[in-house]
Amino acid sequence: MSPAYPLEGVVSWNMNTTCNYRCSYCTQRFVDNRKQWARDLPKFVEGFLALPGDWEIKLSGGEPFTHPEFLALVDALVRGGRRVSVVTNFSASRETLATYAEATRARPGVLSASLHLEYADPLDFAEKLAWFQGIHAGSVVATCVATRESLPKLPAMVQQFRALGVTLRVQPEKQDRDVIGYTEAERAEILALGGHNGTGWVDPSFEGKMCWAGARYLIVDHQGEAYRCYPARRYRQERLGNILDGSLRLAREPKTCGYTYCNCTVPPQRGMVGA
Ligand code: SF4
Ligand code: SF4
Repeated sequence: MSPAYPLEGVVSWNMNTTCNYRCSYCTQRFVDNRKQWARDLPKFVEGFLALPGDWEIKLSGGEPFTHPEFLALVDALVRGGRRVSVVTNFSASRETLATYAEATRARPGVLSASLHLEYADPLDFAEKLAWFQGIHAGSVVATCVATRESLPKLPAMVQQFRALGVTLRVQPEKQDRDVIGYTEAERAEILALGGHNGTGWVDPSFEGKMCWAGARYLIVDHQGEAYRCYPARRYRQERLGNILDGSLRLAREPKTCGYTYCNCTVPPQRGMVGA
């Protein structure tokens, strides 16, 4: 069955490969050049504002706050009527975060703060996030990668965050973009914590189902290259063109999913995938 037309489309924009951290499990640690970022921001903004209908632009990297023109970009997108969300390691200063909260006030999305235990203290992180939640007009969530080492500590951390009024969700660890070989007991622990980002899944498959990705969801990299979704980019298929040179072509209808593993949380969470 085809899912209903999603009124708000979503772009996941990996706007830079730069990051101030070097997490041991980072899926980008083998990227050849971790010093790349989107250069022609006015052209990107023009491309995002030209998309048909309502759209949320979900900024991620690398670490988007390390982009030299990050706040000006956020401001331009919001002024253009786009809802702005961000996935961040939340290491930016409170001053910068307060400016971000102000810039997104008219069209606030989600701030998803990734807790990296190799760099951040959980309590300090939770307190800072509780502070940010109080000044951000949109929603706020924390996530933490369930490495074999961190998984046993996560239930207590979830409670610690909850006591401060902040939600902490887990993400399965990936290697070469696939979920690592958890034991059945470890998978059960992850599911007991809500599964990947609270979806109730660890490594879901929607193969054969109709999905709006490619029409109302797309991913874009720092060079403007656009693909239907993350698995499409992984296999270098279902390319949609480039948002900078006018070649971007979105599908008009949902299409069948041909992938055995969906690591895109947006389409399933937003009802873009058929039952
Ligand atoms: S903060 Fe994110 S992008 Fe940066 S090294 Fe860690 S996992 Fe990778
Ligand atoms: S992998 Fe996920 S996002 Fe991509 S087409 Fe399939 S269901 Fe849609």
